[in-house]
Amino acid sequence: MAKKRLSRWIAAAFAGLAAALSGAVLAAAAVGASDSPQEGVLKVRFGGDRAQTRVVIDLDRPTSATEVSFPSPGRLIAPLPKIAAPPPGFDGAGSGLVRRWLVDRVGGQTRLQLDLDEQATVKRRFLLPPGEGVGHWRYVIDLESGTVIRPVTLATVPAAAVKIRSVAPDIKRRRVVVIDAGHGGKDPGAMGAGTREKDVTLAAARALKKRLEASGVYRVVLTRDSDVFIPLEERVRIARKADADLFISLHADSGPDAATRGASVYTLSEKGADRAAKVLGPQGMLIPASRPGRDQTTNQILLDLTQRSTKNRSAVFAETLLRHVGDETPLLRRSHRDAGFVVLLAPEVPAVLLEMGFITSPADERLLTNADSRGRLIDAVGNAIDAFFQRPAPTIAG
Ligand SMILES: [Zn+2]
Repeated sequence: MAKKRLSRWIAAAFAGLAAALSGAVLAAAAVGASDSPQEGVLKVRFGGDRAQTRVVIDLDRPTSATEVSFPSPGRLIAPLPKIAAPPPGFDGAGSGLVRRWLVDRVGGQTRLQLDLDEQATVKRRFLLPPGEGVGHWRYVIDLESGTVIRPVTLATVPAAAVKIRSVAPDIKRRRVVVIDAGHGGKDPGAMGAGTREKDVTLAAARALKKRLEASGVYRVVLTRDSDVFIPLEERVRIARKADADLFISLHADSGPDAATRGASVYTLSEKGADRAAKVLGPQGMLIPASRPGRDQTTNQILLDLTQRSTKNRSAVFAETLLRHVGDETPLLRRSHRDAGFVVLLAPEVPAVLLEMGFITSPADERLLTNADSRGRLIDAVGNAIDAFFQRPAPTIAG
């Protein structure tokens, strides 16, 4: 990073990380029977709070757009046509506005019953096909506190709009990793005593490409493979076009104090996400513009969800990366920072920015310019990427 922009980035809020991490925890601690069935309703999960609660019903197949009903103010029934009968006693505690949930079968039809803590209304419902690292269908019901009950139609997000990805660990498809060597060409980046950031990042990017390709399980795309200037937006476009599973931008830090050293990792902040939504608009490249019959609401839902899950996954990778990189080089205090980098704004691609160290620190400059020590650092980054893809992608909740 160039120095003058760094102060702005450091000033960025850290709240986004906490939010992203709590979202990940929420998804991991999903409420559901311990013996989740293999078919029908796989799980019932909750997110949000008492003002707005998201209910996610994981399904092995799509259900149809049957209206939900409130047989009494404190109870909601969501019919689930075409869904197999649940095992006996498939119920559990809720969260937010929902006290308890129960999946049962009445009159030959499977249904979800929610017992509410207070009166609530359905804000929106939609079906998500498998995609974005999730292998099954999701029926999402957003509840909000209140008494006005209005009919809400069930929107189905078209499968074509969601990248189909298997969650099976033994997938054959090679993961696509886009490595972005920071700066380049007329933009040298930060300057060390005898080193330019743009040269260090390019060397590191090439080394990481080699490390990843050697394993045979990745397809690696570099945003640049020579000393050329590439605008930030173009780097994002390259990641998206490559259908990246992970985007990692490599940089070297700079600071006024030669004693300051250490690596740090940045992810997209809440502020950055808002900006992404504006930059892309609801018709962002996520959803093909030529697709007919889709309304703005559906697009926005998809963008919301994608960003939420992407932020979670970015935060998970950031922590994994820090664990591995921390073995090879000191970490800057509070080294996982959130910032609204343009380069991290492809909303559907988990993305982190790694400051490999301070080019203005003689110790870090040596580490980054020596092929051996840089190789060990890059190997740690490669190990972090391996570890990240070995864990199943977290599902969307809350
Ligand atoms: Zn930089």
